[in-house]
Amino acid sequence: MKKYDVVITGLGPTGGTLANLLALHGFSILIIEKEKSFYPLPRAVHFDDEIMRVFQTIGITDKFLKYTIINKGTKFVNSKNKVVLDWPRPRSITENGWYPSYRFHQPDLERNLRRRLKNFKKVSIMQNTKVVSLKENKNLVKIILENVNNKKIQEVASKYIVGCDGANSTIRKKIKSKFQNLGFTQKWAVIDLILKKDKKELPDRTIQYSNTKRPATYCRNVGKRRRWEFAIHNSESEKQVLSNSYIWNFLKPWLKPRDAFMERKTIYTFQSAISKKWRKGRVFLAGDAAHLMPPFMGQGMCAGIRDVSNLAWKIAYCLKNNHDEKLLNTYQSERYSNVKEYIKTTAKMGEFVNAIGTSNITGEVSSTPDGKQSMKSIKPKLGKGLGLSKDKNRGKIFPQFNIRDGKSLDVKFSLKPILILSKEIKKNISKKLNFVQPKNNKNLETFFENSNSKAVIVRPDRFILSSCKSVKDFKYYLNKSLYFLT
Ligand SMILES: Cc1cc2nc3c(=O)[nH]c(=O)nc-3n(C[C@H](O)[C@H](O)[C@H](O)COP(=O)(O)OP(=O)(O)OC[C@H]3O[C@@H](n4cnc5c(N)ncnc54)[C@H](O)[C@@H]3O)c2cc1C
Repeated sequence: MKKYDVVITGLGPTGGTLANLLALHGFSILIIEKEKSFYPLPRAVHFDDEIMRVFQTIGITDKFLKYTIINKGTKFVNSKNKVVLDWPRPRSITENGWYPSYRFHQPDLERNLRRRLKNFKKVSIMQNTKVVSLKENKNLVKIILENVNNKKIQEVASKYIVGCDGANSTIRKKIKSKFQNLGFTQKWAVIDLILKKDKKELPDRTIQYSNTKRPATYCRNVGKRRRWEFAIHNSESEKQVLSNSYIWNFLKPWLKPRDAFMERKTIYTFQSAISKKWRKGRVFLAGDAAHLMPPFMGQGMCAGIRDVSNLAWKIAYCLKNNHDEKLLNTYQSERYSNVKEYIKTTAKMGEFVNAIGTSNITGEVSSTPDGKQSMKSIKPKLGKGLGLSKDKNRGKIFPQFNIRDGKSLDVKFSLKPILILSKEIKKNISKKLNFVQPKNNKNLETFFENSNSKAVIVRPDRFILSSCKSVKDFKYYLNKSLYFLT
C-alpha cells in the first residue's frame, strides 16, 4: 500500500492551492480528482489582495498576472438607474502589496495551479478517481479509491487527508458533518458572453441592479468576457429562462445577439451554508466542502484559499514535529468566524440587491459629499485560536514589507514564522539572534507606531500570532510563542 504525507481530494482552486503550499515543504502528496480535467467553464471572476499574496507565496503570480485585470469596484443602482451605493476598489497598492481587487477567469487560475504542481516530484495526481471509504487509526488514514471509468479499487494511506471536494463533498459525508443552512437561497441565471468586438458603452466595473422586479448583476471580466446574472422568479421555469430568446430579450438594453458569443448559460442556486465540523482526527474539510456563500461579493473561492493558507502550515508543523491536537483545533476556530462574517455580509448584499435590505451592508458605509453612500470592504480578524485574545494585533494580517536585498519578507520567509522587532527591542536583546533588516525601516516603525506594539511574531500565513508593547513583555511573549519559531 502506497503511503503519502497528505492526500487531498478535489483539485479545484482550494485543493490546487493547498497542494502547492504543502509541496513547498517537500511533502509527498496525492491529489484525487474525480473528473478527467478541470471544470472548463467560468465560475469565480474576482479575488482580492490577500489571495494574491497566497498566489505569490506559491509562485504563480509571474505567469498568472497577465490573465487578470484590476477591478475598479461595484456600483449599486436602483430601478431608475440611479447610483444608490458605491463600493470603490482604489487603484492603489494595499498593505498586502497588491491591488485590492482583481478579475480573472477561473479556468486560467486552475491551469496555472496545476502547471505549478508539475515542478514537484513528490506530488501525484490521480484523475477519474474518487474516494470510496476512509478508515482512521492513531497515526494514519487508510483510503479506498475507485477509478470511475474501470471501477478498479486501490488502497492508499496518508498521515492527513483534506477534503477540498466542493459543495457536495464526499469527505464531509464521511466525517458526518452537518451542512447547516444559513438562510440565503435564491435561484439565479448566470450568462457568460465573449464580445465579438469592444463595446465601450458597457460599464467598466461591476453593476448591481438593485430592485424587487429583476435583481441582476453585470460583471466586467477579463478581456472581452462579460457576465450577466439575474434572479429567477418562482413562476418561471428553468427551461423558459434558459431559452435563447428569453436571454437575448433580457440582454436587450446592453447587447444584441450579433455583438457576442454566448459561452455558457446556466442556473445556480445561490445559497449560504457552513459545515458544523471541519475536522475529525486526521481528516479535514476546506473550501466549498466547508462553506458556501452567494457570489455577490466574489468571496467564495477566496474563503477556500484563506482556509488552506491557515491549514497548510499547521499540517506542515505536525508533519515535521508531532501531531498536535491543540494546534489543529485552531484551524476551525480561527477560520469559522472569519468565513461566517463574509457569508453574513454577502447575504446582506444579496438582500440589498433584492431591494429588501438597507445599504448598511458593512459597518463601514459613509456618505460622500455628493450625498451618495459609499461602502468599504471588510477584513475580519481570525477567530479565537493561537495567541492571546487580549492582544489587539493578534489575528490581524501583517503588511508585506521589503527587506534590504529588495526581496519581500513574504518571499524570503514563505514557510516560516518571522519574529520582527522594533529598534527599541532590538537594542535590548541578545546579539546572538540574527535578524533581517527591512529595506525601509520607516515603514516598519510606522507599523509599530500604528499598532501600538514593539515586536510581532508573524505566522507563515501572514497573520500576527502575537505582539508586545514593551521590552519586558517581549521576553514573556517570546517564551509563549517560541515553539513555533524553532
Ligand atoms: C456563478 C458563480 C460565481 C462565483 N464567483 C466567485 C467570485 O467571483 N469569487 C470567488 O471567490 N468565488 C466565486 N464563486 C465561488 C467559487 O467558484 C467556489 O467557491 C470555488 O470554485 C470553490 O473551490 P473549491 O476548490 O473549494 O471547490 P470546487 O471548485 O467545486 O472544486 C472541487 C473539486 O473536487 C472535485 N470533486 C468533487 N467530488 C469529488 C470526489 N468525491 N472525489 C474527488 N474529487 C471530487 C471536483 O471535480 C472539483 O474539481 C462563484 C461561484 C459561482 C457558482
